[in-house]
Amino acid sequence: MIVMKFGGSSVGDAQRIRTVLDLVRRELPRKPVVVASAHKGVTNLLVALGEQARAGVVDLSELERIHLSIADALGVSQEPIRELLAELSVLLRGISLVRELSPRSSDYVLSFGERMSCRTIAAFFTKNGLPAEAFDAGDIGLVTDDAFGEARPIPEHEERLSHFLSGYQDRTGRIPVVTGFIGKSRGGDITTLGRNGSDYSAALVGAAVGAEAIQIWTDVDGVMTADPSIIPEALPIDRMSFAEAAELAYYGGKVLHPATLIPAIRKGIPVLVLNTFRPDAPGTVITGEGTRCEGVAKSIVYKERQHIVNIESSRMLGRSGFLQRIFDIFGRLGVSINMVSTSEVSVSVTIDDPRRLPEVEAELRQFADVTVERDKSIVCVVGEGMRSTPGVSAEIFSAVAEAGANVLMISQGASHINISFVVDDGDVKRVVKRLHDKFFAGRKALRPIGAAT
Ligand code: ADP
Ligand code: ASP
Ligand code: MG
Repeated sequence: MIVMKFGGSSVGDAQRIRTVLDLVRRELPRKPVVVASAHKGVTNLLVALGEQARAGVVDLSELERIHLSIADALGVSQEPIRELLAELSVLLRGISLVRELSPRSSDYVLSFGERMSCRTIAAFFTKNGLPAEAFDAGDIGLVTDDAFGEARPIPEHEERLSHFLSGYQDRTGRIPVVTGFIGKSRGGDITTLGRNGSDYSAALVGAAVGAEAIQIWTDVDGVMTADPSIIPEALPIDRMSFAEAAELAYYGGKVLHPATLIPAIRKGIPVLVLNTFRPDAPGTVITGEGTRCEGVAKSIVYKERQHIVNIESSRMLGRSGFLQRIFDIFGRLGVSINMVSTSEVSVSVTIDDPRRLPEVEAELRQFADVTVERDKSIVCVVGEGMRSTPGVSAEIFSAVAEAGANVLMISQGASHINISFVVDDGDVKRVVKRLHDKFFAGRKALRPIGAAT
């Protein structure tokens, strides 16, 4: 079996969905399970509709227009979409009456994008001689905890997904088209895996059925040396290790959701990133095997809108337990830290979600001086062999200086495959551009020069 995941732009309109049908047909001998996102822009629209309902306004006309026009262009029945729109309308009216949008209701609202797109895709496949059936992932075993907005699967999901999906096509003659992004809690509430979470859904499904490959079909030629929307000359990367791809996703490479690699690594399943708009481009193959390439760096990614929290305490000078005390506070309040740098009396950390920052600050102030700096970006240069190659850091930091930016923090992380640092949000695109020129200008491809050591 293989998993074929199609992102929002890959199912963005009728024309793209026709391409999806061709791509799935090509893979029929490998028993594809399709995982699909909402049509492009729909999840953002649902976020807005939830907020409007909270403010007392319900207007589904734009959402209806998008879905019905795609169904019409594909020549499939509007009925399944109309049923879901009616359900959503009741939900939004409820929200507008109580003027309250809880994380639970918000996930329920957001789920409609994937639920509607999968129904249209399955109907279109069926109409074209490829019998298919749409499933909400939570109904076929993707059980999660109830951390709405950022839910994570609970152990039984794997057995249940596998039980349902393994051999499904042989038993029924139909291709399963499974919603990305959503799951269901044990209590039966719809949950979401976080924005961009369909990649993660695909990997969970792939791991559960022991797929031979997980294909992530998107709108660029694979994982690239930088985000091509800001660096048009970025090059596609032929091969990457799981570890490199995981670092890249974690530090902002939006092409993959950060959790995607976890199930793939656990089961050793190759992940392929491919372009629906150019299906014959080679794309990127991500496996457990590390390769070094000429110039060492493979990709430059960045994550904006970070907060730096500086914690200083001369009282704690030389005392044991300083770090533990700090991390306990962040851990207890559920605030995740992206980067850490320490000196004898001070610790700086970066976080991207400031919602509980006031509580964190209040607790830290009981034993330390705290300052917070906003609007910062983490930049991360990824590549097997980064740390062990002399001169790479010097090249990176001279590029940052040439871009006229100030380095505010440098990662002390243990990974051998990345070097990360923090600059001002306002400088980040210039820094990425300068780094990209330094490492990749004039190159046509990233040539592997041997195995990682
Ligand atoms: P999908 O809807 O298919 O999931 P996304 O928009 O989530 O697509 O992810 C693809 C986008 O990721 C690309 O259009 C590109 O702008 C962005 N991106 C960011 N960093 C990278 C990178 N290093 N390589 C490729 N794409 C990247
Ligand atoms: N539709 C969801 C989002 O836009 C999930 C995804 O596309 O991966 O975030
Ligand atoms: Mg995505």
